[in-house]
Amino acid sequence: MTTDPTTKRRILTGDTPTGRLHLGHFVGSLENRIRLQDEYDCYFLLANMHAFTTRADKPDEIRQDTIEIVKDWLAAGIDPERATIVLQTEVPAIAELTWFFAMLVPFNRIMRNPTLKTEIESKGLGDTYSFGFPMYAVGQCADILAFRPDLVPVGVDQVAHIEVCREIARRFNQVYCRVDTHADDKDHEKLGGVFPIPEALVGRVGRLVGTDGKEKMSKSLNNAIFLSDTPKQVKKKINAIYPGQSRNPDEPGDPEINPVFDYADIFIKDESFVADLRERYRKGDNLGDGHVKAFVIEAVNELLEPMRERRAAFDKAGGDDVVIDIIRMGTQRANAVAEETLALAKERMGLGFGSRREMLGI
Ligand code: ATP
Ligand code: MG
Repeated sequence: MTTDPTTKRRILTGDTPTGRLHLGHFVGSLENRIRLQDEYDCYFLLANMHAFTTRADKPDEIRQDTIEIVKDWLAAGIDPERATIVLQTEVPAIAELTWFFAMLVPFNRIMRNPTLKTEIESKGLGDTYSFGFPMYAVGQCADILAFRPDLVPVGVDQVAHIEVCREIARRFNQVYCRVDTHADDKDHEKLGGVFPIPEALVGRVGRLVGTDGKEKMSKSLNNAIFLSDTPKQVKKKINAIYPGQSRNPDEPGDPEINPVFDYADIFIKDESFVADLRERYRKGDNLGDGHVKAFVIEAVNELLEPMRERRAAFDKAGGDDVVIDIIRMGTQRANAVAEETLALAKERMGLGFGSRREMLGI
């Protein structure tokens, strides 16, 4: 793979600043981002506008959460020199594209999205959610397509959203760029389409279960182990996981119904060690639930320790101010790309009356 930024393939993905990042984010998406930041031209979006869809009355919290997510990214290993960190609210092209894209998708198609339905339920939004809430599903298509990426690393719950994005990209190319309706997805740009049809890249673990052993690990469900948790907090949370059964160390158990084994599979690197643990658990070979948990606690802390160190070093170097500088630097770079996309799209839509500069008179 080449290292020339102009020919590198692009990645766009991001997180909504609704709280700190957890292990689910890490295995679902963050890990892939860190792995691919050299190979791809990466854009990581802070979806702060989307945070307003459910918390418009909490601007101070959203601001702080935005800064905290950047700290989580940096601690986890994202390098702002190699990857571009983008603040959604300061990329006007995204808001403009959202408006145009909303015309290319039926309202009912958005409301049928299973992820949106689940969110309405899990966040207890009832039928009083804002007009802007379902709009975020279109906004997310603009977040992505503004950067014309090839890949979008996400957790499994986001695949339905990416599908809508692919539909809108196809439709735009067909309506405004005369791409044939039978064209192959991979040929759209070659045939004159403005947008590639991006693909979701689901992480090593598409859905990490929470410490409740049932739901997806989620900021909003109080079942998360955060990347910024202390060793003590990690220990407490893992020790509190219900192992799905009640047994003594010398009694046979079923690892398949024990969520602690999901964590063992994901976080303990030595696969044969985990296979051996499973076997001993099954047989009741003097292996208590506390023992299995202790191994998982050790593995999770081993993953988080370098993150804790990076975070501490970073806080010493200036904390929030440094983060705000990084956000500015990245957003400037991002605007160059997004403005280019918007100009191309407007040109094809018969809206090429003049450049942004000309229209702003600057
Ligand atoms: P909330 O519960 O507030 O909606 P969230 O935890 O679902 O938040 P998002 O910002 O919606 O977080 O998700 C950011 C990214 O992390 C998405 O790509 C999503 O698919 C992924 N992700 C979130 N939770 C998990 C999980 N438990 N397992 C795997 N991937 C996850
Ligand atoms: Mg979510």
